[in-house]
Amino acid sequence: MYEHDILIIGAGLAGLRAAVEGVKNGLDVAVVSKVHPVRSHSNAAQGGINAPLTDRGDDWEGHAYDTIKGSDFLADQDAVEVMSREAGDAVIELERMGVIFTRGEDGKLGTRAFGGQKVARTFFVGAITGSALLHVLFEQSLKLGLNVYEEWFVTKLIMEDGICKGVVAYDIKNGELHTIKAKAVIMATGGNGRVFEPSTQALICTGDGLSLAYKAGAPLMDMEMIQYHPTTLARTGILLSEAARGEGAYLLNSKGERFMEKYAPDYMELASRDVVSRSEQTEIDEGRGIDGNVMLDLRHLGRDYIEKRLGYLQEVSLEFLGIDMAEEPVPVRPGMHYLMGGIKTDLNGATQIPGLYAAGECANVSVHGANRLGANSLLDTVVFGRRSAEHAIEYIKSVKQNSNSENDLKLESKRLQSILDRPKGENIANLRNDMAVNMTKGIGVWRDQKSIENALSNLHDVKNRLPKISVEHKGKFFNTNLIFALELEFMVDNAEAIIHGAITRKESRGAHYRTDMPERDDKNWLKHTLVYHDTNRENNVRIETAPVTITKWEPVKRVY
Ligand SMILES: Cc1cc2nc3c(=O)[nH]c(=O)nc-3n(C[C@H](O)[C@H](O)[C@H](O)COP(=O)(O)OP(=O)(O)OC[C@H]3O[C@@H](n4cnc5c(N)ncnc54)[C@H](O)[C@@H]3O)c2cc1C
Repeated sequence: MYEHDILIIGAGLAGLRAAVEGVKNGLDVAVVSKVHPVRSHSNAAQGGINAPLTDRGDDWEGHAYDTIKGSDFLADQDAVEVMSREAGDAVIELERMGVIFTRGEDGKLGTRAFGGQKVARTFFVGAITGSALLHVLFEQSLKLGLNVYEEWFVTKLIMEDGICKGVVAYDIKNGELHTIKAKAVIMATGGNGRVFEPSTQALICTGDGLSLAYKAGAPLMDMEMIQYHPTTLARTGILLSEAARGEGAYLLNSKGERFMEKYAPDYMELASRDVVSRSEQTEIDEGRGIDGNVMLDLRHLGRDYIEKRLGYLQEVSLEFLGIDMAEEPVPVRPGMHYLMGGIKTDLNGATQIPGLYAAGECANVSVHGANRLGANSLLDTVVFGRRSAEHAIEYIKSVKQNSNSENDLKLESKRLQSILDRPKGENIANLRNDMAVNMTKGIGVWRDQKSIENALSNLHDVKNRLPKISVEHKGKFFNTNLIFALELEFMVDNAEAIIHGAITRKESRGAHYRTDMPERDDKNWLKHTLVYHDTNRENNVRIETAPVTITKWEPVKRVY
C-alpha cells in the first residue's frame, strides 16, 4: 500500500499544474498516469492558449463575453469570470517557469487570432504549444519533488462512507495491483474522444476518470455537448489546428467559394467551431463538397510564413496526404474533437464526492457550456488545475485518518482475474469500433430523436456483449490487451451518459444541434443536464437538471 497527502490521477496539463501547486506547498503529492506524463494528450495541443492581457488593450470582460457567447449561453458566468480574470497571470506564470512562447517583431509575446473572438489573444509556441507547456510543467514538478507512478492504470476509486480515500491501480509493467491511499484525490484524466470514431484525440482518451467518478456517484454534466472541430484531415481524422484559419487560411467549397460568407459574414472562417462545422457539413450535404470534404486553403500565406508559424501542420499534410500546403489546398471535414461536458465541479474543482476534485477536460466547471472556444481548454487546465489543488490543500487540513482497509484491492484483484479467465469470446477492438462508429452516426454534427435512439439501442447491444469480451494475452508484463478491456468498460459508461444527455435536451444549443428541434429554447432549456449512475433506476441512470448561473450577460441570439 502506498500513501500520499494528495493523489492526482492524470499527468496532462491539468494534473501537472495541480501537482506543481501541491509540491510547492510542501505536501506529499503523487501523480499516477497510464502513460509516461509527456505522452498525455495535452502534448498534442497545437494552436495556443488564450489570455486577455491588459497591456495589449484587452480586458477580462471581452474574453469572458466571447467565451459565454461561444458557449451559446450555457456556461456558468461566475466560472467564466474566474477563468478570464486569472488567465493573464496563468500565462505569464508559465512563461516565467520556462515556456519559450513565440514572440513578435517587438520582442513581446506573440498572439494569433482564434475562433469566436474579436481580439487576437492566443499565445502560442509555433504549432507545438501543448508539448512546450507540458514539458515545462513536468520538469518543474519533478524539481519540486513530485512522486510519479508512471504507466500505472487506475481501475477503481476507494470509497468509504461516501468519501474518496484513494485508488486501486494496476502497474502495467508487471501486472501487480496496488492501493494508493490519499487524503484527497484530483481527477485529471482528460477527454473521452475515442468513444467516437474517428476522433482527433489520442487512443488513450477513453474517459476513464469520467466513468470512475460516475460509478462512485458523481454526476456528469452536459455530456451531450461534443465538439466537432471544423478542420480534420481527410481520410485520417488528424487535427489541423484552428491556428491555420487564425493565421488567415480560407475555407472553400467545390466551386472555389469562401462559403463562410453565407453563414457568418462578420467572423467568416473564425466563427465558433460549432457554426463552422455545421456550415461545412451543409456544403458537403448539399453537394458542394469534394469527396465528403471541403478545402482549407493556405496558399496565399506563402511558404515561409507557413513553415515558420504552422510548420507542424505542413508536416502532417505532407506526411499523410502528400499535399504541400504552400502549393495546394488541403481537404478537411468536421471531426470529433473535445468534450465540453464532464464531472460536475464547483469553482474550486470540488465534485459532489468529498475528497474528490476534478480538473481539465474530464471536469465540467462549466466554462465551455455548449461550445468551447479554441485555446480555452489549455487555459481551463492550468487555471482550474491550480485551483483544485489549492482547495484540496485546504480540505486535507481537516482529514485526520485515512483508511487502512485493503478490501477494494482484493475485490479488484478478483475482478481482473475473472476477466483474464474468460473463455474466448467477443473481440475487444471490434466491439469498441462498433460502439464508436455508431456514436458518431447517432450524435454527430447533426442529430435527432431517431439517430439518438439508434445510438442507444446499439449501446444496449454493446452492453450485452461487454461481459463476453475476452483477453487473449494472459501474461503479467505490459498486458495492453487487458488495459483495452478495462478502457472499453469505461467508454461504455461515457457513451451511456452522452446518449442520455442528448435524449434529455429537447432543443438545439451550441454543438447539440437537433434537426428535429432546430431552435434554442431558453425558456425550457437554459439549464444543465446531469446524469447520475443510480442502481435503483431502470438502466441504472438518473437524470436531473441544474440552473445555469447568469451574472451579467443575458442570453441573446447568437450571430457571427
Ligand atoms: C489534437 C489536439 C489539439 C488540441 N489543441 C488545443 C489547443 O491548441 N488549445 C487548447 O486550448 N486546447 C487544445 N486541445 C484540447 C486540449 O489539449 C485538451 O483538452 C487538454 O490538453 C486536456 O488536458 P488534461 O490535462 O485534462 O488531460 P490529458 O492531457 O488528456 O491527460 C490525461 C491524463 O490522464 C491519465 N489517465 C487517464 N486515464 C487514466 C487511468 N485509468 N489511470 C491512470 N492515468 C490515467 C493519462 O495517462 C494522462 O496523463 C487539443 C486537443 C487535441 C486532441
